[in-house]
Amino acid sequence: MYKNLSPDECRTTAWHALQVDEVERLLESSTDGLTQEEVARRKEVFGENALPKKRPLTVFEVFLRQFKSPLIYVLLAAGIISILFVDLTDAIFIFAVLLLNAVIGTFQEVKAERGAAALQEILKIHARVIRGGRERVVPAEDLVPGDRVVLESGDRVPADTRIIRARSLTVDESLLTGESHAVEKTPDPVDASLPTSDRRSMLYAGTTVMTGRCTGVVVSTGQNTEIGQIAQSVTESEGGKPPLIIRMEDFSRKIAIAILAATGVLAIIVLGQGMPILDVFFLVVALAVSAIPEGLPVALTVALSIAASRMATRNVIVRVLAAVESLGSCTLIASDKTGTLTVNQQTARVIALPTGERFSVTGAGYAGEGEVLEEDGDPVAGPGRSRLEQLARAAAICNEAALERTDDGNWTHHGDAIDVAFLALAYKLGLDPATVREGAPAVAEIPFESERRYAAVWYRDGEGIRVAVKGAVETVLPFCQSMATGGERSLPLDPDGVQEELEFLTSQGYRVLAVAHGREERDISGENPQVPPLELLGLVGFIDPIRPDVPDAVRRCREAGVDVVMVTGDHPATALAIARELEIADSPDQVITGAEMGDTGDSITPGLIERAKRARVFARVTPLQKLRIVEAYRESGAFVAVTGDGVNDAPALRSANIGIAMGSGTDVAKDTASLIIADDNFASIVAGIEEGRYAYDNVRKVVYLLISTGFAEVLLFMLALALGLPLPLFAVQLLWLNLVTNGIQDVALAFEGGEPDVMKRPPRKPDEGIFNRLMIEETLLSGTVIAVVALGAWHWMLGNGWDEFAARNMLVLLMVLFENIHAFNCRSEYFSAFRVPISRNYFLIAGVIAAQGIHILALHIPFFQNVLQVQPISLGEWVFLLALASTVMIVMEIFKAVRKHRPPRHKPEENH
Ligand code: ADP
Ligand code: MG
Repeated sequence: MYKNLSPDECRTTAWHALQVDEVERLLESSTDGLTQEEVARRKEVFGENALPKKRPLTVFEVFLRQFKSPLIYVLLAAGIISILFVDLTDAIFIFAVLLLNAVIGTFQEVKAERGAAALQEILKIHARVIRGGRERVVPAEDLVPGDRVVLESGDRVPADTRIIRARSLTVDESLLTGESHAVEKTPDPVDASLPTSDRRSMLYAGTTVMTGRCTGVVVSTGQNTEIGQIAQSVTESEGGKPPLIIRMEDFSRKIAIAILAATGVLAIIVLGQGMPILDVFFLVVALAVSAIPEGLPVALTVALSIAASRMATRNVIVRVLAAVESLGSCTLIASDKTGTLTVNQQTARVIALPTGERFSVTGAGYAGEGEVLEEDGDPVAGPGRSRLEQLARAAAICNEAALERTDDGNWTHHGDAIDVAFLALAYKLGLDPATVREGAPAVAEIPFESERRYAAVWYRDGEGIRVAVKGAVETVLPFCQSMATGGERSLPLDPDGVQEELEFLTSQGYRVLAVAHGREERDISGENPQVPPLELLGLVGFIDPIRPDVPDAVRRCREAGVDVVMVTGDHPATALAIARELEIADSPDQVITGAEMGDTGDSITPGLIERAKRARVFARVTPLQKLRIVEAYRESGAFVAVTGDGVNDAPALRSANIGIAMGSGTDVAKDTASLIIADDNFASIVAGIEEGRYAYDNVRKVVYLLISTGFAEVLLFMLALALGLPLPLFAVQLLWLNLVTNGIQDVALAFEGGEPDVMKRPPRKPDEGIFNRLMIEETLLSGTVIAVVALGAWHWMLGNGWDEFAARNMLVLLMVLFENIHAFNCRSEYFSAFRVPISRNYFLIAGVIAAQGIHILALHIPFFQNVLQVQPISLGEWVFLLALASTVMIVMEIFKAVRKHRPPRHKPEENH
């Protein structure tokens, strides 16, 4: 009877010192795992397998944070001074505006955070468990003590686990111990008194499996794990603020300092002219408010998070917000082949026996239906058949996948694609893989790891031990001394013949694996088995179709000035065949193999940089070489995006400008990448680049609107002062203009859909500032138009008998209308505002109408009439002001038409 260990008992038991069967007994965990009912029951007792999250800021805390800005301090001071020296209504208004500003900021921040939380869901860790006799994948939170988990290289350990069975298992425990090299792990009990770092028989939550496979029993979950004990809250560090935001904050700060210095000088001048000190103070406040683009960082964060959520709908999950911005600068994508450019639906298509006979295989996909045919199309029979069966049997034994027919006649599969394809082949030859494996119990194993390029399984066969091996031909061939002939005795290996066959098959685009077997004469009970001399059984050629949308995506990259190169562990000829089909490469001298790169040691050589510039395909490369390739490209000035999925891809992912992990990849790869492609598809990367470019454009639009209106207000003030006119706008009115009316519409620009030609432009230079020449011209021109027209109106009204109050009332409305109309100018830096379809951004229409509406409302509400010094305006006057305000559109339209700035075009010959 299960004695119901309490969570505390689970934590304090010295599991590492117990024998495996004792562990299983205590936790009542059989080979079939727990039943679902038992899992549910234990979950009641032990709770979720999750660490307490860092408490997210409450909405109120986010709200308070909105007030942490020097500008707000100035305004708060202004509010307090108003209470003391002016009147209460002004103060109330200032506080109300600050409140509103904080509410808008809070709303946007909370919304962006919710979006981020939703994305975190997708990144959740899953675990393979055996429950009720079946292997299944469950969210890591669902694990309970007693669960049997199955782990392989690249997995993050989901809970503290006692190892039951392990093969070549090494684990990176740096998270826990700070020790950076991987530690070997085995099921053997260790001394109870050993510290955590020496408990070889245990796996701890949060560490990662670097090599090998294992099965274990969960002993502690959630807060009771070692890591849970150390850190009561573990937060995922997300790389801080995006550089763009940092640059903009910096920019705002510089403007603020400049403005304060300038207004200081101005204050001294007007004081000298005899202006009352209180008026001077409000003048300074007003100028500061108009010029400091304090809405900018918020608007930019919003723009980037909108982009991130748009990317999510296109299968690009952004882990680090900065990647949104950097995607737009990407000049080169170094892509994996298998699974990214191809669908990774491996199907065995041809088999070549060492004696030269070739057979073709029918049937597609992960199903065991199909046949093996002679070259003339007849079904195989006789001796040929038994030789093929021998090959298929070895490949089914040396295999980690499963492929089964369900009761309804469909096929289910899990595991490595090549392994599943080998099982399908076995079925096609009339074998049942499960029966084959039962008859050949494994005793030792070298599991497949990408950089090893082969796998081997030792199994009991009657009295002796035999070994089955499959892997890359170049790797397996050196193990082989002989080749199977079908007869009683095998012949010495004919390496040239095999080589010839290999070249033929790879040049057709097949991924080719060799299958071999042998007899183990030595005692392999020791730690690391060595592959004995083998007999080659044959070569198998697999096809793996190109993803249908990839050719188009590669073409789009070319148009967008983004180079595509292929980095693969596969054979150079296979890689070239695929690269040719995708028009990535066309001749063999564009292919470099890992062997040619040689020992890259720990640095990149100038030679490699030179060769990387010419190469399009890197074949048979190791993860370390992949890292060097990325470094060489970066060194030569490229802005590199690199894809990866394996444990050892992490360094390359980290070193790239943009690391992209595959959704199906290992936890390690996902942890180090800045983006994750949920569907593994190369085409999604290109979609990400497109969204990244849109996002950057939108950022520019927001900046343009905010800076040009701020500039207009400052200029208007300066001109008025220079002409000796009264101050055109009061501080409260400027507050209203900048934080309320513009505040409503500016964020709407961040929702602009992209301009259709962005993917025909070259990549943006990573260090290119927002303020390039065009942007400066447009900002200065539009700002000047607004300031001059407004000044003209102010001057005319005062000169024609309007009293100051009535004239200022008109001027405020005029400024609101300017903002409204200018928002449309900002929709495109290059093209006429009338060529940007309304449908590209309904938010903007709503924002503009809301901004204008709220102002008209204010004209009719006594409180606002009082503080804003405004009053209702007739329709005729409104239309007249609208006409005046449209000058900014007319001038900007003429500017765009005359200057004929066009977005830069990428010229295809610049590639390569
Ligand atoms: P890629 O870069 O195309 O993803 P991999 O790193 O997955 O290539 O594989 C490298 C080589 O290892 C392959 O070309 C193949 O020869 C061999 N290989 C791939 N999968 C297996 C497997 N399941 N068992 C044995 N060998 C394999
Ligand atoms: Mg692979």
